[in-house]
Amino acid sequence: MSALKWGLIGASDIAATRVIDAIRSSGGTVTGVFSGSSARAADFAATHGLGRATSNLDELLAWDVDAVYISSTNDKHFDQATRALRAGKHVLCEKPLALDAGEAEAMVQLAEDTGLVLAANHHLPGSPLHAKVRELVNDGVIGTVLSAKIAHAVLLPERLRGWRLGQGTPGSGVILDITCHDASVLNPLLGTPVAVSAVAVQQAAWNTGGQEDAAMTVIRYENNGQSPVLAQTHDSFTVGFAMTSLEVHGTKGTVQVFDAMTQDTQGEIVLTTESGARTIDVDCSEDLYLIGLRAFTAAVHGTGVPTATGRDGLMALKVALAAQESANSGRTVHIN
Ligand code: NDP
Repeated sequence: MSALKWGLIGASDIAATRVIDAIRSSGGTVTGVFSGSSARAADFAATHGLGRATSNLDELLAWDVDAVYISSTNDKHFDQATRALRAGKHVLCEKPLALDAGEAEAMVQLAEDTGLVLAANHHLPGSPLHAKVRELVNDGVIGTVLSAKIAHAVLLPERLRGWRLGQGTPGSGVILDITCHDASVLNPLLGTPVAVSAVAVQQAAWNTGGQEDAAMTVIRYENNGQSPVLAQTHDSFTVGFAMTSLEVHGTKGTVQVFDAMTQDTQGEIVLTTESGARTIDVDCSEDLYLIGLRAFTAAVHGTGVPTATGRDGLMALKVALAAQESANSGRTVHIN
């Protein structure tokens, strides 16, 4: 499999801390970076050993690169992804894919029309923990699924307390940031999300931006005429001492995953049925972003599918947007 040549759109923290290493570990090379500021682009390129830097997106899109990784702020994803696809580049785009479901749908459609790969960089669905839970559920080990619960309450690192917290900043807030990730895990597990109810608040004294930093959400899923499934999520930037988790309850058993939602998981799965509780060993040693990069590379070569396809990213976005609308309006929001 020939290595992919990449361009980075966004001189971001996630590119610096995770994705450049993952690209290189997947066998790919990073040609250079685009930033809105030429000084930031040059600095980022120098720090990470990239040969080229530009503040002109068209210039990056003219480089000899196969794919771009978009990790700008959320409000820029749609425009940048669309331009990259039109320039013939495969696109790995950060979540949320866009700020509007219609725009995300248009991105997916454009990728399909041009025969290019568009994937959302949701790292959790590729986790061996979540793959094992999907396997247990699909094999009927816990019977008919009734409900699921995600605890994804974490403390937002100080260095990330910028645009995420700006009230009125497009793409800010805990729901687009974290609930979106939860949906990327729940959707492939539970079926079709059809209705969402959420409440969101601002809690942290350090959150001077005023945007919501904690939310609880309930999602109704439907699945081929079976009983509806309820899922509940707790997403927060404000909780410093909790372990993340996923629980899935069925008519014949419960699966619990501890440390289920973190970037560097040491997670554990416990399956409880009428035979008792047992731990299921899963190898969590591989970096989740590398798993995603490998899957993306295989998709480009026609030998695999991305960890989260463009359509998966779209569905995760729909849940997050419905949760945001519900939190804003105080009403249950239906997803068409
Ligand atoms: P950052 O704030 O680090 O970067 C986002 C953009 O902000 C950059 O592209 C850059 O714009 C600008 N920026 C960054 N630092 C500065 C600075 N010091 N001064 C001025 N501008 C700056 O965001 P994150 O890396 O946290 O998030 C980027 C994207 O990745 C988001 O879409 C987020 O949702 C997603 N994300 C995904 C994760 C995952 O696990 N899949 C985890 C974390 C984030 P420019 O490039 O124009 O310079």
